[in-house]
Amino acid sequence: MSAQSSLAGSPVVAEVDFAAKGRQAGHLRVPQSRDDSGWGTIPVPIVVVANGSGPTMLLTAGNHGDEYEGQVALLDLARTLKPEQVQGRVIIIPAMHYPACAAGKRLSPLDGRDFNRCFPGDPFGGFALSLAHYIDSVLLPLCDYQQDLHSGGTGMDIVASTAGHVLDDAGLQAKTLAMADAFNAPVTMLLREVNAGPTLLAQAEARGVVALSSELGGGGRLNPANLAITRRGVANLLRHAGILDGKPEITTPSRRMTVPDLAHYVFAPCDGIWEAADILGSSVEAGAPAGLLHRIEDPTGPAIPLSYAATGLLWCVRHAGRVKVGDPVAVIARDL
Ligand SMILES: [Zn+2]
Repeated sequence: MSAQSSLAGSPVVAEVDFAAKGRQAGHLRVPQSRDDSGWGTIPVPIVVVANGSGPTMLLTAGNHGDEYEGQVALLDLARTLKPEQVQGRVIIIPAMHYPACAAGKRLSPLDGRDFNRCFPGDPFGGFALSLAHYIDSVLLPLCDYQQDLHSGGTGMDIVASTAGHVLDDAGLQAKTLAMADAFNAPVTMLLREVNAGPTLLAQAEARGVVALSSELGGGGRLNPANLAITRRGVANLLRHAGILDGKPEITTPSRRMTVPDLAHYVFAPCDGIWEAADILGSSVEAGAPAGLLHRIEDPTGPAIPLSYAATGLLWCVRHAGRVKVGDPVAVIARDL
């Protein structure tokens, strides 16, 4: 496609030419009409590095704005990746849902939308739906691989993991697992979702792209250890695809796990302050105490004890102290 053009009935305009070789930095300009700027746009930064021949990988972070390991790993890559290192094409979007990223929030300050519930989008549905439609209908068809970099956000902390779905297509499944093995996060989380819903991962899978999501930490902070895992994982994916020279650097092989059912979640039965019994990454037993829920409304009553209903790895924990009824405070994973 030519620069400065929109495609597929999308009002989004790319300042980069996806067919060009070399290194380009620009924006996806997404229309956002305001009272004081009827022709306003929100520019979403994008970097494309292409050279020679080879596959295309789309690397995205900032799908949720309060998840930082992926944003920083992709900013590093966007700064440093040189065309002469590349065989193929790398499309880097470090802060995809830009308004949420700029605000440091999971959801958009424009309209409260969760960007990962906006796919396949709507070209004229407002910022988030319009950008989702562009990514689905223009970018994904260019791609052989897609990696969406998430963390647990402000509310949760998660053992660094890539995340994929159990797929009906055995060939695509094998390629997805090989991609996850190459990323080499401590955990590869495989989830069976009958209807994976309106996520970027589900759209990529539907288009036959070898794709993964991830959960690379959380707590609304940038964890240096998880950032190191993310940086190495992204470089490993590019080596795995043959876009960069060399073999993936594998430390301990990734542990393949799943969260089979709701019994592996502990949910808050009411609002309160969560006091966890165990730290993230602990091995926990069914029936053991998960923690106490303290109710500020009832200073003379007992705290509410909650227990695990499954045995396994404490894969995800509530990070924020205050919880609302129905919030998960712990998620247990078991080995596949
Ligand atoms: Zn996320």
